[in-house]
Amino acid sequence: MSLFDFAPGREGYYGTYGGCFLPEILTSTIDELRECFRACKADPAFWEEFRAVMRSYSGRPTPVTYLENLSRHLGGARIYVKREDLNHTGSHKINNVMGQGLICKRLGKTRVIAETGAGQHGFATATMAARFGLRCKIYMGAVDVARQRPNVFWMENLGAEVVAVEDGQRTLKDAINECLRDWVTNMADTHYVLGTACGPHPFPEMVSYFQSIIGLEAREQIQENAGRLPDRVYACVGGGSNAMGIFQGCLDDAGVELVGCEAGGFGPGPGGHASRLAYPDASLGVAQGYKTYFLQNEDGNMLETHSIAAGLDYIGVNPILAYLWEQKRVRFEAATDDEVREALRLVMRTEGLIPALESTHAFARAIAEAPAMGRDEIILINQSGRGDKDIFTVADAIDDRAWKQFIRAKADQYGA
Ligand SMILES: *Cc1c(COP(=O)(O)O)cnc(C)c1O
Repeated sequence: MSLFDFAPGREGYYGTYGGCFLPEILTSTIDELRECFRACKADPAFWEEFRAVMRSYSGRPTPVTYLENLSRHLGGARIYVKREDLNHTGSHKINNVMGQGLICKRLGKTRVIAETGAGQHGFATATMAARFGLRCKIYMGAVDVARQRPNVFWMENLGAEVVAVEDGQRTLKDAINECLRDWVTNMADTHYVLGTACGPHPFPEMVSYFQSIIGLEAREQIQENAGRLPDRVYACVGGGSNAMGIFQGCLDDAGVELVGCEAGGFGPGPGGHASRLAYPDASLGVAQGYKTYFLQNEDGNMLETHSIAAGLDYIGVNPILAYLWEQKRVRFEAATDDEVREALRLVMRTEGLIPALESTHAFARAIAEAPAMGRDEIILINQSGRGDKDIFTVADAIDDRAWKQFIRAKADQYGA
Protein backbone atom coordinates (compact mmCIF):
# COMPACT_ATOMS: atom_id res chain seq x y z
CA MET A 1 0.00 0.00 0.00
CA SER A 2 1.39 3.38 -0.91
CA LEU A 3 0.26 6.45 0.95
CA PHE A 4 1.08 10.03 0.06
CA ASP A 5 3.94 11.34 2.17
CA PHE A 6 2.31 14.35 3.78
CA ALA A 7 5.31 15.64 5.62
CA PRO A 8 8.08 16.80 3.30
CA GLY A 9 9.52 19.12 5.96
CA ARG A 10 9.11 19.09 9.73
CA GLU A 11 7.21 16.05 11.00
CA GLY A 12 3.52 16.77 11.50
CA TYR A 13 3.61 19.90 9.33
CA TYR A 14 2.05 20.27 5.90
CA GLY A 15 3.47 23.52 4.60
CA THR A 16 2.79 25.89 7.50
CA TYR A 17 -0.26 23.94 8.70
CA GLY A 18 -0.55 21.29 11.40
CA GLY A 19 1.93 20.83 14.25
CA CYS A 20 1.34 19.81 17.83
CA PHE A 21 0.48 22.52 20.36
CA LEU A 22 -0.35 20.84 23.65
CA PRO A 23 0.29 21.45 27.36
CA GLU A 24 3.76 20.20 28.39
CA ILE A 25 2.20 17.58 30.64
CA LEU A 26 0.84 15.65 27.64
CA THR A 27 4.23 15.42 25.88
CA SER A 28 5.06 11.87 26.93
CA THR A 29 1.56 10.61 26.11
CA ILE A 30 1.50 12.14 22.65
CA ASP A 31 5.08 10.91 22.00
CA GLU A 32 4.02 7.40 22.96
CA LEU A 33 0.98 7.61 20.66
CA ARG A 34 3.06 8.94 17.76
CA GLU A 35 5.66 6.18 18.11
CA CYS A 36 2.99 3.48 18.34
CA PHE A 37 1.26 4.81 15.23
CA ARG A 38 4.61 5.04 13.38
CA ALA A 39 5.32 1.39 14.15
CA CYS A 40 1.80 0.30 13.13
CA LYS A 41 1.92 2.26 9.87
CA ALA A 42 5.26 0.68 8.97
CA ASP A 43 3.92 -2.83 9.65
CA PRO A 44 1.90 -4.37 6.77
CA ALA A 45 0.42 -6.92 9.20
CA PHE A 46 -1.26 -4.10 11.12
CA TRP A 47 -3.04 -2.83 8.00
CA GLU A 48 -4.18 -6.40 7.27
CA GLU A 49 -5.49 -6.75 10.83
CA PHE A 50 -7.40 -3.48 10.41
CA ARG A 51 -8.85 -4.59 7.07
CA ALA A 52 -9.93 -7.92 8.53
CA VAL A 53 -11.75 -6.16 11.39
CA MET A 54 -13.51 -3.83 8.97
CA ARG A 55 -14.44 -6.73 6.71
CA SER A 56 -15.98 -8.94 9.38
CA TYR A 57 -17.45 -6.26 11.65
CA SER A 58 -18.47 -3.37 9.40
CA GLY A 59 -19.22 -5.05 6.09
CA ARG A 60 -16.30 -3.71 4.05
CA PRO A 61 -15.58 -3.30 1.26
CA THR A 62 -18.52 -0.94 0.82
CA PRO A 63 -19.69 -0.96 -2.82
CA VAL A 64 -19.54 1.70 -5.53
CA THR A 65 -22.97 2.29 -7.09
CA TYR A 66 -23.67 3.77 -10.55
CA LEU A 67 -26.49 6.36 -10.38
CA GLU A 68 -27.98 5.80 -13.82
CA ASN A 69 -31.23 7.71 -13.23
CA LEU A 70 -29.60 10.79 -11.71
CA SER A 71 -26.94 10.86 -14.44
CA ARG A 72 -29.61 10.69 -17.16
CA HIS A 73 -31.73 13.32 -15.40
CA LEU A 74 -28.82 15.79 -15.30
CA GLY A 75 -27.69 14.97 -18.84
CA GLY A 76 -23.94 15.32 -18.20
CA ALA A 77 -21.25 13.24 -16.50
CA ARG A 78 -21.82 9.67 -15.33
CA ILE A 79 -22.19 9.69 -11.54
CA TYR A 80 -20.89 6.95 -9.23
CA VAL A 81 -21.17 6.83 -5.44
CA LYS A 82 -18.92 5.21 -2.83
CA ARG A 83 -21.30 3.81 -0.23
CA GLU A 84 -19.84 4.56 3.23
CA ASP A 85 -23.46 4.75 4.43
CA LEU A 86 -23.52 0.94 4.39
CA ASN A 87 -20.98 0.66 7.23
CA HIS A 88 -22.03 -0.52 10.69
CA THR A 89 -23.33 2.54 12.62
CA GLY A 90 -24.14 4.19 9.28
CA SER A 91 -21.08 6.22 8.31
CA HIS A 92 -17.34 6.32 7.67
CA LYS A 93 -16.70 7.24 11.33
CA ILE A 94 -16.42 3.56 12.23
CA ASN A 95 -13.22 3.27 10.10
CA ASN A 96 -11.44 5.74 12.37
CA VAL A 97 -12.74 4.47 15.72
CA MET A 98 -12.00 0.79 15.01
CA GLY A 99 -8.48 1.75 13.87
CA GLN A 100 -7.86 3.79 17.01
CA GLY A 101 -9.31 0.91 19.06
CA LEU A 102 -6.55 -1.32 17.68
CA ILE A 103 -3.96 1.37 18.53
CA CYS A 104 -5.41 1.65 22.03
CA LYS A 105 -5.00 -2.09 22.56
CA ARG A 106 -1.39 -1.97 21.31
CA LEU A 107 -0.74 0.82 23.82
CA GLY A 108 -2.13 -1.45 26.55
CA LYS A 109 -4.73 1.14 27.56
CA THR A 110 -8.08 0.06 28.96
CA ARG A 111 -10.16 3.21 28.79
CA VAL A 112 -11.21 5.56 25.97
CA ILE A 113 -12.65 9.06 26.02
CA ALA A 114 -14.11 11.08 23.16
CA GLU A 115 -15.78 14.39 22.44
CA THR A 116 -18.90 14.54 20.32
CA GLY A 117 -21.13 17.30 18.94
CA ALA A 118 -24.01 15.75 17.02
CA GLY A 119 -23.35 12.45 18.76
CA GLN A 120 -22.33 10.37 15.72
CA HIS A 121 -18.69 10.05 16.77
CA GLY A 122 -19.69 9.29 20.37
CA PHE A 123 -22.04 6.60 19.13
CA ALA A 124 -19.31 5.01 16.98
CA THR A 125 -16.77 5.21 19.84
CA ALA A 126 -19.21 3.59 22.30
CA THR A 127 -19.77 0.81 19.75
CA MET A 128 -16.02 0.20 19.39
CA ALA A 129 -15.52 0.25 23.18
CA ALA A 130 -18.24 -2.36 23.67
CA ARG A 131 -16.71 -4.58 21.00
CA PHE A 132 -13.12 -4.26 22.32
CA GLY A 133 -14.03 -4.39 26.04
CA LEU A 134 -12.81 -0.87 26.89
CA ARG A 135 -14.28 1.50 29.45
CA CYS A 136 -15.72 4.54 27.71
CA LYS A 137 -16.62 8.11 28.65
CA ILE A 138 -18.15 10.54 26.14
CA TYR A 139 -18.05 14.31 26.65
CA MET A 140 -20.86 16.26 25.08
CA GLY A 141 -22.06 19.86 25.55
CA ALA A 142 -25.24 20.01 27.65
CA VAL A 143 -27.04 21.78 24.79
CA ASP A 144 -26.11 18.95 22.44
CA VAL A 145 -27.15 16.28 24.96
CA ALA A 146 -30.63 17.80 24.98
CA ARG A 147 -30.73 18.14 21.16
CA GLN A 148 -29.45 14.64 20.36
CA ARG A 149 -31.44 12.41 22.67
CA PRO A 150 -31.48 9.34 20.32
CA ASN A 151 -27.65 9.20 20.12
CA VAL A 152 -27.29 9.71 23.88
CA PHE A 153 -29.75 6.88 24.46
CA TRP A 154 -27.74 4.45 22.32
CA MET A 155 -24.36 5.49 23.77
CA GLU A 156 -25.60 4.82 27.30
CA ASN A 157 -27.15 1.50 26.34
CA LEU A 158 -23.89 0.48 24.65
CA GLY A 159 -22.27 0.90 28.07
CA ALA A 160 -20.67 4.35 27.76
CA GLU A 161 -20.94 7.08 30.35
CA VAL A 162 -22.13 10.33 28.76
CA VAL A 163 -21.07 13.54 30.50
CA ALA A 164 -23.11 16.69 29.81
CA VAL A 165 -20.61 19.58 29.86
CA GLU A 166 -22.06 22.69 31.49
CA ASP A 167 -19.14 25.08 30.78
CA GLY A 168 -19.11 27.92 28.24
CA GLN A 169 -21.68 27.70 25.46
CA ARG A 170 -22.19 24.04 26.39
CA THR A 171 -21.45 22.73 22.87
CA LEU A 172 -18.67 20.87 21.02
CA LYS A 173 -15.82 23.31 21.82
CA ASP A 174 -16.51 23.01 25.55
CA ALA A 175 -16.74 19.22 25.28
CA ILE A 176 -13.25 19.17 23.61
CA ASN A 177 -11.78 21.22 26.50
CA GLU A 178 -13.31 18.89 29.09
CA CYS A 179 -12.03 15.86 27.21
CA LEU A 180 -8.47 17.26 27.21
CA ARG A 181 -8.76 17.85 30.97
CA ASP A 182 -9.74 14.21 31.47
CA TRP A 183 -6.81 13.07 29.30
CA VAL A 184 -4.31 15.10 31.34
CA THR A 185 -5.63 13.49 34.55
CA ASN A 186 -5.93 9.90 33.31
CA MET A 187 -3.35 9.54 30.53
CA ALA A 188 -1.75 6.43 32.08
CA ASP A 189 -4.70 4.18 31.19
CA THR A 190 -6.68 6.37 28.76
CA HIS A 191 -6.60 6.94 25.00
CA TYR A 192 -8.35 9.98 23.51
CA VAL A 193 -10.25 8.87 20.39
CA LEU A 194 -10.34 12.09 18.38
CA GLY A 195 -13.28 12.11 15.98
CA THR A 196 -11.95 13.74 12.83
CA ALA A 197 -8.69 14.44 11.01
CA CYS A 198 -7.94 17.54 13.10
CA GLY A 199 -6.14 18.35 16.35
CA PRO A 200 -2.44 17.91 17.21
CA HIS A 201 -0.04 15.64 15.29
CA PRO A 202 -0.34 12.63 14.86
CA PHE A 203 -4.17 12.80 14.78
CA PRO A 204 -4.60 14.42 11.32
CA GLU A 205 -2.26 11.88 9.76
CA MET A 206 -3.50 8.91 11.80
CA VAL A 207 -7.20 9.51 11.12
CA SER A 208 -6.44 10.08 7.41
CA TYR A 209 -4.49 6.82 7.36
CA PHE A 210 -7.44 4.79 8.67
CA GLN A 211 -9.89 6.57 6.36
CA SER A 212 -7.66 5.90 3.33
CA ILE A 213 -9.34 2.49 3.19
CA ILE A 214 -12.21 4.35 1.45
CA GLY A 215 -10.05 5.71 -1.37
CA LEU A 216 -7.98 2.55 -1.85
CA GLU A 217 -11.14 0.47 -2.29
CA ALA A 218 -12.87 3.09 -4.46
CA ARG A 219 -9.89 3.35 -6.82
CA GLU A 220 -10.11 -0.37 -7.64
CA GLN A 221 -13.90 -0.38 -7.80
CA ILE A 222 -14.33 2.60 -10.13
CA GLN A 223 -11.79 1.11 -12.54
CA GLU A 224 -13.73 -2.15 -12.47
CA ASN A 225 -17.16 -0.47 -12.88
CA ALA A 226 -16.37 2.44 -15.19
CA GLY A 227 -13.22 1.17 -16.86
CA ARG A 228 -11.01 4.01 -15.66
CA LEU A 229 -10.36 6.59 -12.93
CA PRO A 230 -12.93 9.37 -12.36
CA ASP A 231 -12.51 12.90 -13.71
CA ARG A 232 -13.73 14.44 -10.46
CA VAL A 233 -14.14 13.25 -6.87
CA TYR A 234 -16.51 15.07 -4.50
CA ALA A 235 -16.56 14.77 -0.71
CA CYS A 236 -18.09 16.86 2.06
CA VAL A 237 -15.64 18.47 4.51
CA GLY A 238 -16.38 18.91 8.21
CA GLY A 239 -13.10 18.21 9.96
CA GLY A 240 -11.98 16.54 6.73
CA SER A 241 -11.71 12.82 7.49
CA ASN A 242 -14.01 11.29 4.87
CA ALA A 243 -12.62 13.69 2.24
CA MET A 244 -9.03 12.75 3.09
CA GLY A 245 -10.15 9.12 2.97
CA ILE A 246 -11.50 9.14 -0.56
CA PHE A 247 -9.05 11.71 -1.98
CA GLN A 248 -6.07 9.52 -1.08
CA GLY A 249 -7.22 7.00 -3.70
CA CYS A 250 -6.40 9.48 -6.50
CA LEU A 251 -4.08 12.04 -4.89
CA ASP A 252 -1.13 11.21 -7.16
CA ASP A 253 -3.27 11.16 -10.34
CA ALA A 254 -3.00 14.71 -11.66
CA GLY A 255 -5.89 14.11 -14.09
CA VAL A 256 -8.36 13.57 -11.24
CA GLU A 257 -9.82 16.78 -9.86
CA LEU A 258 -10.59 16.69 -6.12
CA VAL A 259 -13.45 18.84 -4.80
CA GLY A 260 -14.04 19.49 -1.09
CA CYS A 261 -17.60 20.61 -0.26
CA GLU A 262 -18.10 22.73 2.85
CA ALA A 263 -21.21 23.83 4.73
CA GLY A 264 -22.46 27.05 3.09
CA GLY A 265 -25.34 27.39 5.57
CA PHE A 266 -27.18 30.67 4.89
CA GLY A 267 -24.36 31.83 2.56
CA PRO A 268 -21.17 33.95 3.02
CA GLY A 269 -20.78 36.29 6.02
CA PRO A 270 -19.45 35.53 9.53
CA GLY A 271 -21.73 33.40 11.69
CA GLY A 272 -24.02 31.98 9.01
CA HIS A 273 -22.02 28.97 7.79
CA ALA A 274 -19.13 26.62 8.57
CA SER A 275 -17.00 27.16 5.47
CA ARG A 276 -13.29 27.72 6.21
CA LEU A 277 -11.78 27.65 2.72
CA ALA A 278 -14.56 28.22 0.15
CA TYR A 279 -15.72 31.49 1.78
CA PRO A 280 -13.29 34.23 2.87
CA ASP A 281 -14.44 34.45 6.52
CA ALA A 282 -11.76 32.27 8.15
CA SER A 283 -8.17 33.12 9.08
CA LEU A 284 -4.98 31.30 10.03
CA GLY A 285 -4.56 30.54 13.71
CA VAL A 286 -3.57 28.06 16.39
CA ALA A 287 -6.31 26.43 18.48
CA GLN A 288 -7.22 23.01 19.84
CA GLY A 289 -3.65 21.81 19.45
CA TYR A 290 -2.91 22.65 15.78
CA LYS A 291 -2.51 25.37 13.17
CA THR A 292 -5.01 25.82 10.36
CA TYR A 293 -7.76 28.11 9.05
CA PHE A 294 -10.32 28.79 11.78
CA LEU A 295 -13.61 30.66 11.80
CA GLN A 296 -12.55 33.23 14.38
CA ASN A 297 -12.70 36.97 14.97
CA GLU A 298 -9.73 39.34 15.18
CA ASP A 299 -9.18 38.51 18.86
CA GLY A 300 -8.94 34.79 18.09
CA ASN A 301 -12.35 34.05 19.62
CA MET A 302 -14.24 31.42 17.66
CA LEU A 303 -17.24 32.55 15.62
CA GLU A 304 -20.66 30.99 15.79
CA THR A 305 -21.14 28.47 12.99
CA HIS A 306 -24.25 27.24 11.29
CA SER A 307 -25.14 24.32 9.02
CA ILE A 308 -28.18 22.19 8.34
CA ALA A 309 -25.75 19.27 8.85
CA ALA A 310 -24.53 19.02 12.44
CA GLY A 311 -21.49 16.95 11.38
CA LEU A 312 -20.09 19.78 9.24
CA ASP A 313 -20.57 22.42 11.91
CA TYR A 314 -16.92 22.82 12.94
CA ILE A 315 -14.58 25.85 13.23
CA GLY A 316 -11.32 24.30 11.92
CA VAL A 317 -10.23 22.15 8.99
CA ASN A 318 -7.76 19.31 8.47
CA PRO A 319 -4.27 20.86 8.01
CA ILE A 320 -3.41 18.48 5.15
CA LEU A 321 -6.47 19.68 3.22
CA ALA A 322 -5.55 23.31 3.96
CA TYR A 323 -2.13 22.58 2.45
CA LEU A 324 -3.56 20.76 -0.59
CA TRP A 325 -5.95 23.70 -1.09
CA GLU A 326 -3.05 26.15 -0.97
CA GLN A 327 -1.19 23.97 -3.49
CA LYS A 328 -4.32 24.05 -5.69
CA ARG A 329 -4.53 20.24 -5.60
CA VAL A 330 -8.00 20.35 -3.95
CA ARG A 331 -10.69 22.82 -5.03
CA PHE A 332 -13.03 24.00 -2.28
CA GLU A 333 -16.70 24.86 -2.78
CA ALA A 334 -19.64 25.39 -0.45
CA ALA A 335 -23.24 24.18 -0.69
CA THR A 336 -25.95 26.19 1.09
CA ASP A 337 -28.69 24.65 3.25
CA ASP A 338 -31.22 25.35 0.47
CA GLU A 339 -29.08 23.65 -2.18
CA VAL A 340 -28.67 20.67 0.14
CA ARG A 341 -32.42 20.32 0.74
CA GLU A 342 -33.02 20.39 -3.04
CA ALA A 343 -30.27 17.88 -3.73
CA LEU A 344 -31.57 15.48 -1.06
CA ARG A 345 -35.06 15.52 -2.61
CA LEU A 346 -33.66 14.83 -6.07
CA VAL A 347 -31.39 11.97 -4.94
CA MET A 348 -34.18 10.32 -2.92
CA ARG A 349 -36.68 10.52 -5.77
CA THR A 350 -34.39 9.48 -8.62
CA GLU A 351 -32.26 6.84 -6.90
CA GLY A 352 -33.95 5.73 -3.68
CA LEU A 353 -30.86 6.71 -1.69
CA ILE A 354 -31.07 8.71 1.55
CA PRO A 355 -27.64 10.28 2.03
CA ALA A 356 -26.80 11.99 5.34
CA LEU A 357 -27.23 15.78 5.19
CA GLU A 358 -23.43 16.04 5.49
CA SER A 359 -22.88 13.82 2.44
CA THR A 360 -25.61 15.67 0.56
CA HIS A 361 -23.28 18.70 0.40
CA ALA A 362 -21.06 16.65 -1.94
CA PHE A 363 -24.09 15.58 -3.97
CA ALA A 364 -25.27 19.20 -4.22
CA ARG A 365 -21.98 20.37 -5.77
CA ALA A 366 -21.81 17.38 -8.11
CA ILE A 367 -25.41 18.02 -9.20
CA ALA A 368 -24.57 21.68 -9.87
CA GLU A 369 -21.50 20.82 -11.97
CA ALA A 370 -22.43 17.56 -13.75
CA PRO A 371 -24.67 19.06 -16.49
CA ALA A 372 -21.74 21.09 -17.90
CA MET A 373 -19.56 17.99 -18.15
CA GLY A 374 -19.48 15.55 -21.09
CA ARG A 375 -21.38 12.25 -21.09
CA ASP A 376 -18.10 10.38 -21.29
CA GLU A 377 -16.85 12.03 -18.10
CA ILE A 378 -17.02 10.35 -14.70
CA ILE A 379 -17.88 11.73 -11.27
CA LEU A 380 -17.29 9.86 -8.00
CA ILE A 381 -19.12 11.09 -4.88
CA ASN A 382 -18.34 9.88 -1.37
CA GLN A 383 -21.62 9.17 0.41
CA SER A 384 -20.09 9.45 3.88
CA GLY A 385 -23.22 8.36 5.76
CA ARG A 386 -26.89 7.48 5.69
CA GLY A 387 -29.65 9.98 6.36
CA ASP A 388 -31.88 8.04 8.78
CA LYS A 389 -30.43 10.05 11.67
CA ASP A 390 -31.62 13.30 10.03
CA ILE A 391 -35.32 12.46 10.11
CA PHE A 392 -36.09 15.23 12.66
CA THR A 393 -34.20 17.93 10.73
CA VAL A 394 -35.53 16.93 7.32
CA ALA A 395 -39.14 16.56 8.49
CA ASP A 396 -38.85 20.02 10.06
CA ALA A 397 -37.35 21.52 6.92
CA ILE A 398 -40.02 20.21 4.58
CA ASP A 399 -42.74 21.07 7.12
CA ASP A 400 -44.33 17.60 7.10
CA ARG A 401 -47.85 17.72 8.65
CA ALA A 402 -48.25 14.02 9.46
CA TRP A 403 -44.84 14.05 11.15
CA LYS A 404 -45.82 17.00 13.34
CA GLN A 405 -49.01 15.18 14.38
CA PHE A 406 -46.91 12.14 15.29
CA ILE A 407 -44.56 14.23 17.46
CA ARG A 408 -47.52 15.96 19.16
CA ALA A 409 -49.16 12.59 19.91
CA LYS A 410 -45.90 11.29 21.44
CA ALA A 411 -45.58 14.45 23.55
CA ASP A 412 -49.15 13.95 24.84
CA GLN A 413 -48.43 10.30 25.57
CA TYR A 414 -45.42 11.20 27.73
CA GLY A 415 -47.01 14.29 29.22
CA ALA A 416 -44.40 16.69 27.77
C1 LIG B 1 -19.14 13.42 11.05
C2 LIG B 1 -19.59 13.29 9.65
C3 LIG B 1 -19.02 14.04 8.61
C4 LIG B 1 -17.97 15.11 8.82
O1 LIG B 1 -16.75 14.66 9.27
P1 LIG B 1 -15.44 14.58 8.36
O2 LIG B 1 -14.36 14.35 9.34
O3 LIG B 1 -15.30 15.86 7.62
O4 LIG B 1 -15.62 13.44 7.43
C5 LIG B 1 -19.46 13.81 7.32
N1 LIG B 1 -20.42 12.91 7.05
C6 LIG B 1 -21.01 12.17 8.02
C7 LIG B 1 -22.07 11.19 7.65
C8 LIG B 1 -20.62 12.34 9.35
O5 LIG B 1 -21.21 11.61 10.31
